[in-house]
Amino acid sequence: MQDSFIESLESRGLTRRAFLGFCGTIAAAIGIEGVTAVDVAEAIEKNSLIGVNGGMGKGGLAPVIWLELGSCTGCTESFAQTDDPDPATLLLEYLALNYSETLSASAGYSLEESREQTIEAAKGKYVVVIEGAVMTRYNGEILRIAGEATCAPGDSPLIRTCKDAAVVIAAGSCAVDGGFCAADPNPGGAEGIQKYLKDNGVTTPVVNLPSCPCNASTLVAVVVQYLLLGAKSVVDGLNEFGMPTAYYGETIHDNCERRGHFENGEFVYEFGSVEEAKGYCLYAVGCKGPQTKANCGTIRWNRRVSWCVESGAPCIGCCSADPNTTVRNWVDVSSPFLGRLKTLKLGSIKFQPTPVALGITGILTAALVIHGVGMKATGRTTGGAPFEKAREYDIKHGNVKPSNEAPATEQVVETVEEGE
Ligand code: SF4
Ligand code: SF4
Repeated sequence: MQDSFIESLESRGLTRRAFLGFCGTIAAAIGIEGVTAVDVAEAIEKNSLIGVNGGMGKGGLAPVIWLELGSCTGCTESFAQTDDPDPATLLLEYLALNYSETLSASAGYSLEESREQTIEAAKGKYVVVIEGAVMTRYNGEILRIAGEATCAPGDSPLIRTCKDAAVVIAAGSCAVDGGFCAADPNPGGAEGIQKYLKDNGVTTPVVNLPSCPCNASTLVAVVVQYLLLGAKSVVDGLNEFGMPTAYYGETIHDNCERRGHFENGEFVYEFGSVEEAKGYCLYAVGCKGPQTKANCGTIRWNRRVSWCVESGAPCIGCCSADPNTTVRNWVDVSSPFLGRLKTLKLGSIKFQPTPVALGITGILTAALVIHGVGMKATGRTTGGAPFEKAREYDIKHGNVKPSNEAPATEQVVETVEEGE
């Protein structure tokens, strides 16, 4: 790393050692053989706005447009609200974050002009980060960008911003499938950016990073992978839901430090109990770790200090998302958060699993009883296996006795021995 770049880090309160530690985490998260912490550091340095050549990166900028839609701004907060300089926050400075309603210093006309210029000057090269849900009801008038409805069908600021991007990153569950904004009855028609773009004929690849809020380290890892290896590398690593398999391939349960207690049947049944103090498994108080695929236990949260289960809270499945629909949003799927019983949904029909299981068991039992009575009534319960009464055919013809004759092979053997 060049001295000027290191100086720029230090001027923001970040040591070289801490920065390389952060890059190591990102390299591990990317999970591609041969990509090291130094490679990650170089990618960030080359694409930075600051530090080299008098303040401009020499490797070409990576312009980012960050659009905020229906959300609580928690994903921006996840990046920005730090009480000391944080690598993830600083990385947003190193990239050309040309547009962010919350973080940009400018506002109004000059900010909108910056977005338009980025789209024009960096066609096919810029990254769009979407935070929040697309609010489709009321002709998209729920949210407005520069006086225009954000997501009117056909043409909208959202479509114009996304269609020429290299890649769109849906940061957080609301951007993936509507998240909590889409929770039943979803009055604003919240949905994910992938569905909205697909329904409007936009083919820009979408990378879905669900969780509530978006994990800053996961987002940075995807951006750095894009800088290092290009959009194709990122897109090739996505699963059927457009989520990077490296981060959403295993369940929370697979990498949980309380897993041993789960295997031993040692559970917390009540908060404030001795079992909780012993750090037992949180399954009985509603932990959704077994059904939630995410890397929270390995990439961790809040500058990698801790994560939900380590801090004593059951996983509430905030990474559960399906970008193709709104009815599998994590709030509806995971509630009640602190209980095991869930309301299942089939379209607009809701039902409880226990009554359904009891109902199915009752139907099967009734069917077996009816079948047995029918068999008895038609006489089909007589005959059959040998331990049952003799069948009519056997009584009439008698049983065939087994033969006592020796097999032909034994006779051949005897003949050969006589010849010798
Ligand atoms: S706390 Fe949750 S994720 Fe961890 S072992 Fe128990 S059920 Fe699994
Ligand atoms: S551990 Fe569960 S609740 Fe916590 S961030 Fe991860 S998916 Fe969400």
